[in-house]
Amino acid sequence: MSALKEKIVRLIRAQGPITVAQYMQIALGDPFHGYYIARDPFGRDFVTAPEVSQIFGELVGLFFVQAWEDRGQPKSFHFVELGPGRGTLMADMMRAAAKVRPEFARAAKIVLIETSPMLRSIQKQALEAYAPAWALRLEEIADDRPFYVVANEFFDALPVRQFVRGEKGWHERMIGADGDALAFTLTPDTQPVSFPTQDAGLGAVREINRNAEAMTEEIGAKIAGRNGIGLIIDYGYGEAGFGDTFQAVKENAYADPLKEPGDADLTAHVDFSALKAAAGLSAVRVSGPITQREFLHRLGIAIRADRLKSSVPDKSAEIDAAVERLTGETQMGKLFKAMGLSAPDTTPLPGF
Ligand code: SAH
Repeated sequence: MSALKEKIVRLIRAQGPITVAQYMQIALGDPFHGYYIARDPFGRDFVTAPEVSQIFGELVGLFFVQAWEDRGQPKSFHFVELGPGRGTLMADMMRAAAKVRPEFARAAKIVLIETSPMLRSIQKQALEAYAPAWALRLEEIADDRPFYVVANEFFDALPVRQFVRGEKGWHERMIGADGDALAFTLTPDTQPVSFPTQDAGLGAVREINRNAEAMTEEIGAKIAGRNGIGLIIDYGYGEAGFGDTFQAVKENAYADPLKEPGDADLTAHVDFSALKAAAGLSAVRVSGPITQREFLHRLGIAIRADRLKSSVPDKSAEIDAAVERLTGETQMGKLFKAMGLSAPDTTPLPGF
């Protein structure tokens, strides 16, 4: 048994079953053995959009340049990325932006919100030229410069709680220990829930991500108050519903989420309707969510791909395959959504 699994089993023996959110938190974020703390999972376990093709980051970079111009080209702004992974998205955004508007690149003060020391050091290498700063929490970004923020595949990594409809009401789904094995169980008692329950049949599962909601609320308030811009891209659903999306991925395949904590990525789909509601608590304007396919097409992915193909003709097939991966309905095009945030009464965001 791995050291982390042993730690979790010991914790459960000592204090009883833990919530799915607590389990995710430990498996991903344990300071010694957590999945994101201990390794660089990119390529081995999964591939994110910026790692599929530079076109993704370039288009997102041009999205920010356009929105910055529409807001009168402020001379200095915070450019915050949540969970930057290898730093590829930020590097591609900044390269594309600097090519068309060097002033944008000079005005951007990059802040990376990242928990993993290993990924921080990879980000440091990738982004050396732009002298980024790191932070653990948004509150650390305190002055009132315009606040621009981007997050790709960040919210899916935040811990979710799950509630299951039983005969008498809702139970929270928990993780207990059966000998050395981890196993799902339910709280014995039912508990009050705050979501609409009318369409829920027996066994229905509802996922609640309070961390994601709280963070979106905080971002929304900063964007509304500081003429900001936000872009959240992730896999998820636009309408709240019932379903179990808690999943583990290892080596590009689905895995048992309870088998090897710390050795597989754990995620849940993002409930964009909940993020939208959380953002709505401040005056921020929400655009979308729309599908990644729609978003990238409106930003001109077809033109950008053609241009890239004419400069590197021998890469044509590769570029077509990347565009298909990013926008194809059965690939990342439909499951992934983009949601924009901006201050009220400002020029609408490009792409939405
Ligand atoms: N945006 C990148 C990486 C996505 S993976 C890309 O598209 O390739 C998720 C990222 O979020 C990783 O960098 C991970 O270390 C970071 N992360 C996960 N939970 C976090 C948290 N609570 N606070 C800050 N960073 C977190």
